[in-house]
Amino acid sequence: MSEKVEKTEQEWKDELTPEQYRVLREKATERAFTGRYHATKDPGTYRCAGCGAELFSSDTKYDSGTGWPSFWEPASDDAVETERDWGLLGMRTEVHCASCGGHLGHVFPDGPHPTGVRFCINSCALELEPDEGS
Ligand code: FE
Repeated sequence: MSEKVEKTEQEWKDELTPEQYRVLREKATERAFTGRYHATKDPGTYRCAGCGAELFSSDTKYDSGTGWPSFWEPASDDAVETERDWGLLGMRTEVHCASCGGHLGHVFPDGPHPTGVRFCINSCALELEPDEGS
């Protein structure tokens, strides 16, 4: 990831929907099974709803049964960054966009082969760009 995207809180508020602002900038979590991508199987590229950076491929999306879009690997090694996060639910690992810092979700060590990890991502933090011709 080359360029970092930096905006003021007011700019983010102006550009994002209220729900996207709460998730991306205030680390909220959308309710399970309410997001638009949790059951999506369409082929394409999932980009950051905040800055457009390429975050995940539909090739690594799977049905985790959790009600959130789940991926076993980011689109590239430097697409996302993680941070340990102590909260009410104990220690979790937070995932954010490496480009704009927007909060995406969390990563858990219960994913499928081949990585064994589950990137549990809020639908509203993502924008699916369908593959050409699909
Ligand atoms: Fe971003």
